[in-house]
Amino acid sequence: MTDTITKGMKVAFIGSECYPFIKTGGLGDVMYALPRALIRQGCEVRVFMPYYRCIPDRFRDKMTYVGSFMMNLTQDGRDFYVGIMETELDGVIYDFVDNREFFDWGNPYTGLWEDIPKYCYFSKASLAVLNYLDWIPDVIHCHDWQAALVPVFLRTQFDGTPVGAARTVLTIHNLRFQGICSIDHLKYWTGLPDFLFDYSVFKVNDREANMFKGGLAYTDRITTVSETYADEIQTDFYGEGLNGHLWYHRAKLLGIVNGIDVDIWDSRTDKLLPAPYGEADVLRAKVENKKALQERLGLAVDGDKFVIGLISRLTDQKGLDLIDAVFTQMVDDRVQVVILGTGDPRYENAFRYFESVYRGQVCAYIKHDESLAHQIYAGSDALLVPSLFEPCGLTQLIAMRYGTVPIVRETGGLKDTVEPYNEYTGDGNGFTFDRYQADLLLDAVKRAERVYFEDRPSWDAMVTRDMEKDVSWEHSADLYLQLYGELKG
Ligand code: ADP
Repeated sequence: MTDTITKGMKVAFIGSECYPFIKTGGLGDVMYALPRALIRQGCEVRVFMPYYRCIPDRFRDKMTYVGSFMMNLTQDGRDFYVGIMETELDGVIYDFVDNREFFDWGNPYTGLWEDIPKYCYFSKASLAVLNYLDWIPDVIHCHDWQAALVPVFLRTQFDGTPVGAARTVLTIHNLRFQGICSIDHLKYWTGLPDFLFDYSVFKVNDREANMFKGGLAYTDRITTVSETYADEIQTDFYGEGLNGHLWYHRAKLLGIVNGIDVDIWDSRTDKLLPAPYGEADVLRAKVENKKALQERLGLAVDGDKFVIGLISRLTDQKGLDLIDAVFTQMVDDRVQVVILGTGDPRYENAFRYFESVYRGQVCAYIKHDESLAHQIYAGSDALLVPSLFEPCGLTQLIAMRYGTVPIVRETGGLKDTVEPYNEYTGDGNGFTFDRYQADLLLDAVKRAERVYFEDRPSWDAMVTRDMEKDVSWEHSADLYLQLYGELKG
């Protein structure tokens, strides 16, 4: 986008995690990749996050101390130290908010009781740091419940200060986590006035307040990470109790799908692959990568098997009960299944059990393993993502980029990024099913298997089409820029 309004636009990202400093999920990826895509479009971007003790020393050693001040936070007027540590990476400036009391122990997230004060402090301190640095952004882009108080502080305690001129966007990465606590707890840790503890802002019921709810009410715009999820969260089933609130604010709600970092996920240059490949040699290289994967995991080495991968957190969200229900019907002599993931012991044990029953045909690798993930994306023919809900989902995007055909449930970002295969026109990127039913998942797997074994030219054409699909951040960064431009006016 070359619009002059957005050239030189100043954008502050505020969020609780950012790759490569600290990452626990998709939020960390977005906080890394989107700012980089925006600076390529001519924006000035700074990222604000906490100065956690668990950020590796190799990053901490390169940070410089910029300054410090005391900030008033709580209802009883306690002052807290705010330090600023800074570093630069590929043109993006990262400012870390330092306070040992909040960030010097544990992982980023410990328990809600400690996390609520931590992120009340962080949201307010980030705004105070912007004023201290005298770097006033056009737009403040806040992420998830941990930064949801930013728009509220901005329009109350920071009204009339320099940063008060900024507009805000609040992105929902996952609505399941909202920052809910007692009204008294939130009142104490924010010092915010009583009128905000009303049903239209923070209040949930007579006892509880919800940080995300307040932020959604006060922000200028709300985005979430796919168009379908933007619609879904206004319904009872997906709305996690905030559907009515989101429906009320729907005029300012927009879905923009995530991309993936196409430098990290590049099958041509991927050093973790036994046989890197591009579109021209994918069919040959896939067999080589498949055999290497089978060898590594103790499966029967056979390039003709239909290998189905699953790379996932093993939680209820990911549709694993469907897989469990039809697993024995999914596996036949022509099929192998590779599972990589950790999580709920119920699923970990179910997959371990299937591995023991189907030795040489099924592997359940119950660990987090980056290098194996790369090998599975490259060595599988299809990747399963049958999620119950999926705000965006990255695994189906990575799979397509690696020429691995996704089999997904039509929900959230899965619906927006995987076009179902049409056997009459030959179009499509993968196999899909709509209702959350195990027999429909099985049917989708069997359809994929049939095309793979009985119509290989169509399958191979889909593999190439998937590799050519644009799953980068560029298009989505354009949409965010348009949104920022509208806010700037
Ligand atoms: P979510 O954020 O809900 O966990 P996403 O699909 O957005 O799901 O992102 C999952 C990311 O985590 C992908 O990059 C995937 O490759 C990676 N991943 C998930 N489980 C593992 C694992 N056990 N080992 C390595 N990478 C994993």
